[in-house]
Amino acid sequence: MRRVYLDHSATTPVDSEVATLMMTYYTEKYGNPSSVHSFGREAKQALEEARNQVAELIRATPQEIIFTSGGTEADNLAILGTVETLRKKGKHIITSAVEHHAVLETCEYLAKNGFELTVIPVDEEGLLSVEDIRKAIRPDTILMSVMHANNEVGSIQPIAEIGKLAKEHGITFHVDAVQSLGKLPIDVNEMNVDLLTVSGHKIYGPKGVGALYVRKGIRVVPLVHGGGQEKRRRSGTENTPGIIGFGKACQLAGQRMAEDARHETKLRDKLINGILQRIEYVKVNGPSGEKRLPNNVNVSIRFVEGESLLLSLDMLGIAASSGSACTSGSLDPSHVLLAMGLVHEIAHGSLRFSLGRQNTEEEIDYVLDQLPKIVERLRMMSPLYDQVLRIKQAQ
Ligand SMILES: *Cc1c(COP(=O)(O)O)cnc(C)c1O
Repeated sequence: MRRVYLDHSATTPVDSEVATLMMTYYTEKYGNPSSVHSFGREAKQALEEARNQVAELIRATPQEIIFTSGGTEADNLAILGTVETLRKKGKHIITSAVEHHAVLETCEYLAKNGFELTVIPVDEEGLLSVEDIRKAIRPDTILMSVMHANNEVGSIQPIAEIGKLAKEHGITFHVDAVQSLGKLPIDVNEMNVDLLTVSGHKIYGPKGVGALYVRKGIRVVPLVHGGGQEKRRRSGTENTPGIIGFGKACQLAGQRMAEDARHETKLRDKLINGILQRIEYVKVNGPSGEKRLPNNVNVSIRFVEGESLLLSLDMLGIAASSGSACTSGSLDPSHVLLAMGLVHEIAHGSLRFSLGRQNTEEEIDYVLDQLPKIVERLRMMSPLYDQVLRIKQAQ
């Protein structure tokens, strides 16, 4: 059966160049980077090369990069690791309503343990207002955590402006950039970011590896104690093959960014316009044009269930998502769509396609050919749609 993968915001395939390089560090250059012998030294050298590659993609220095087991751990380290020392200054934290669960749940955990949390709402496109954030700042605000680009609807937040605000008020600023890395230019200095989360498997690197950028001078208390790796901030023998693969993926992403963005934007607009032309009662979720990630398509298709759509698409080999991969499986509608003001019923009929470097126009044509048929079939079973048809006929 033909298979079309349109779920790159959940994860991406590992680039073959990355996989080949990683294999060397599993089977030949397998030394522990802490060892003093030549095996250790060659692993250590490659590890530091990877640190350079990650740093370069976000315009940081290699000393400011801490490798972690992924985006989730980096988000946890950024938040839990800084509030510990900032506690003396205050207990107020600001985040947004559309954050990834790795940030939201961590902030909510702190809110249950002596901290105070303000969750900033978004507008109907999933965008934050800098003014709303300014108003939420208090004298005891110690940390703000805001994502660069949203994983569900692709909204790109005004990070540089928020960073300026944070700097003016002396507030530590964390940004989850897992979805924007390799898709949008990132400069931690221009954006005034103190802590920035990135992950390997969303950029054609391996799963289970990520990093936290920590600006020089910002203190983070470790979550994992042990042998003192990563300058004592994240103990545990480094996942050298993973980290080296992640570094390579960053290098490739930097080289390909403009080309990938051009390609994906073209496919994105073809898919959005095609759906709007072929299917009635469809709402596009998220911003348009420049404020949307080049690879994100999110639509609410009325009178159908998102889960049914997903299953029907899957039977035709088309892989999409009905929200974030972590929450699919539960029947709660996406917190992001609800925060954008969508009612439950419409949020339930939503579908995310996230495009990647290897997708082709022909694959989009296949989806545009199949999706209307699926929707038509599912709508025929919907009593609500039946009513709509009757009203239409009566007019
Ligand atoms: C995927 C993702 C994460 C989690 O990263 P993992 O490496 O899968 O733990 C965090 N934030 C965002 C925005 C993501 O899309």
